[in-house]
Amino acid sequence: MEMDNDRIKFSENDKLILFSQVEGMCPLCPNSLMHEKEKQNRKLFEIAHIYPLNPTLAEKELLKDEERLSPDPNDLKNLICLCVTCHTKFDKSRTVTEYRELVDKKKALLRSSKNKSLWADTKVENDIIHIINTLLKEEIDFSKDDILKYDPKEIDKKVDDSITILTRRKIHRNVQDYFHLVKSKFIELDKISPLTTETISSQIKTHYLLLMKQHRLANQKEIFDALVQWLSKITKQIDDEASEIIISYFVQNCEVF
Ligand SMILES: [Zn+2]
Repeated sequence: MEMDNDRIKFSENDKLILFSQVEGMCPLCPNSLMHEKEKQNRKLFEIAHIYPLNPTLAEKELLKDEERLSPDPNDLKNLICLCVTCHTKFDKSRTVTEYRELVDKKKALLRSSKNKSLWADTKVENDIIHIINTLLKEEIDFSKDDILKYDPKEIDKKVDDSITILTRRKIHRNVQDYFHLVKSKFIELDKISPLTTETISSQIKTHYLLLMKQHRLANQKEIFDALVQWLSKITKQIDDEASEIIISYFVQNCEVF
């Protein structure tokens, strides 16, 4: 196989960017791109051109109507880390289906790193951490009939087809089970320091709008996931569960969607 890596020398920074973009895993299979052997880490990846660097006539013809991620094949937008096996398979017999699959993967990776670049742009009051901590500690017996459930009417009106059934269900459940609890926690906070709820709501709204601006075609599932990821990151949580409850609360409350 002709190795792309031998033809071009990528800078260490470019390799790092591409490696962290796929989070160290081959985006096409479950292979890790780093292997530890005899206490030494070995790199198991190659940098692949999504649109070939030197396409053959047949490849040019095959891909002539396909989307190109950059006019320059050596642009980082056209490059992706793959494990050696997947790279060989991708290059050896080029197919339109595999090309499209990789273009879509790369676009999703680019969107996700753009979202992460927004993480530092919106600050949220530390009080939100207090709410998250109470949510994580709260013991609610959902089997009890007298538990106060909220009727999440708003949700069904607001979500569109870009949200998956599973995410819709998750938001619905979170609102049903936790809306009253989250609201009561916000009311408590407002008593201690007035306007906390309003401040936090507008911060969530701001980040939502930033994400909407980023993705000109807003996909609700992607926006929801990106908001959850952001909230977990800035509140330093290991797990997304409490953030999902909080973002669901703001969907119901109209700051989101
Ligand atoms: Zn692979």
